[in-house]
Amino acid sequence: MCLNHDNIQQNPSHFEGSPQELALATNVQENFMDYIKDLKFFDPHIHMTSRTTDDYQALADAGVVAIIEPAFWLGQPRTGLATFKDYYSSLIGWERFRSSQFGIKHYCTIGLNSREANNEALAEQVMEILPLYLYKEGVVGVGEIGFDDQTAAEEKYYRLQLELAKEAGLPVQIHTPHRDKKKGTERSMAIALEHGIDPGMVIIDHNNEETVKSVLDQGFWAAFTIYPFTKMGNERMVEIVKQYGSKQIMINSAADWGISDPLAVPKTAALMKIKGISSEDIHMVTYKNAIDAFAQSGQIKVEDFENPQEIDQSQTFNGNTILRGGQQPRIDKNAIVIR
Ligand SMILES: [Zn+2]
Repeated sequence: MCLNHDNIQQNPSHFEGSPQELALATNVQENFMDYIKDLKFFDPHIHMTSRTTDDYQALADAGVVAIIEPAFWLGQPRTGLATFKDYYSSLIGWERFRSSQFGIKHYCTIGLNSREANNEALAEQVMEILPLYLYKEGVVGVGEIGFDDQTAAEEKYYRLQLELAKEAGLPVQIHTPHRDKKKGTERSMAIALEHGIDPGMVIIDHNNEETVKSVLDQGFWAAFTIYPFTKMGNERMVEIVKQYGSKQIMINSAADWGISDPLAVPKTAALMKIKGISSEDIHMVTYKNAIDAFAQSGQIKVEDFENPQEIDQSQTFNGNTILRGGQQPRIDKNAIVIR
């Protein structure tokens, strides 16, 4: 009885932390957000389908005003055409609505990912339906397409989709492989050029120190994914911008169902600021270049996200809302009590 009572008495002070602990925690929080106050960000590669509403809220709080969600592999191979259809529909429908409920403008790119191009029977069917989605509002490119294992089937569907992009006048968002990256990147660019595509319409993604020079030299956009462990860390990214400047370069989180960080873009902006990169260069690589590249689709109006709009979380999409069972819109994130 007495012990329990003591515990209850002690718990609140333990929960609040010692003054030093508290100061440290506050500083960590303040440091990150302090450096990016009043900055706006555009993340041109993030898979929100795999993320939660907490992530949307965190993106909005950190100044991310617009995003692009490329169509990709969902971690498990699809077994039929209907699931591709539903996925593409969700990218231009429900997911866009969910994003709007946090004041974030959502765009997408539509394509058959390289991994699933290897299921040729299904790939043939997917090719048939792609044009139905590529011309929809808010679709800013064909993507993410390219090479994974660099097989013949991957090349076949990459080439076919380059032709679709050309026909639709859309930018192309290219996923470069993890294995044999340099070779895969060079091959992706050579094939795009072979199809007569202007390199200024092509965003080569997941670059690193090995690929960046050739991509920039050939006039393509160079995108970098800040992704823990497997791709780039943001300290390496700072060095790349120091060396190459900000022209044609953009960064993204590629946050997905894996261990990834949806705040990679604002956090890298903060680190760049600390490391002395100019505000102009930060603006280019975390915002403007991505807009310039994908606005060539004719689908991006900056007014849509540069002038903040009222968020009404009681809105619905086909009768559905992000609120559950009579929940009140827009909860205070810092409140301890969860209702
Ligand atoms: Zn991706």
